[in-house]
Amino acid sequence: MSEETIFDKIIQREIPATIVYEDDLALAFEDINPQAPTHLLIIPKTRIATCNDIDKSQRELVGHLFWVAAQIAKQEGFADAGYRTVMNCNDDGGQTVHHIHLHLLAGKPLGWPPYQERLKQA
Ligand code: AMP
Repeated sequence: MSEETIFDKIIQREIPATIVYEDDLALAFEDINPQAPTHLLIIPKTRIATCNDIDKSQRELVGHLFWVAAQIAKQEGFADAGYRTVMNCNDDGGQTVHHIHLHLLAGKPLGWPPYQERLKQA
């Protein structure tokens, strides 16, 4: 079992977060360092460290995170305008918290590819 992260503390309400959705499997809350007008994190309540650690038995749980993203998008009114879902994996993917989380970004046209700026600087 991977080590507890700050997201476990949010699930257990040990540290504050602006929670926007919760069910028996998942929790969604505002990212503390938003990269778009709407930037939410959708996490499974079961700790899975990285995408590489998703067990075959957890495929439905991971799919559930995308379903939650779409429900929030519809509820918040940006489903038709569009949004981006991203799950980073390990260092090159930019993962800093080892409890998988689906970033849900919306509220403005998002550039693509996302690494364009870094390539320009190189
Ligand atoms: P990643 O870099 O893909 O692992 O994403 C981790 C995300 O968690 C970053 O976007 C952080 O801003 C966000 N984050 C870290 N700590 C907190 C916190 N206490 N509450 C909300 N978001 C957080």
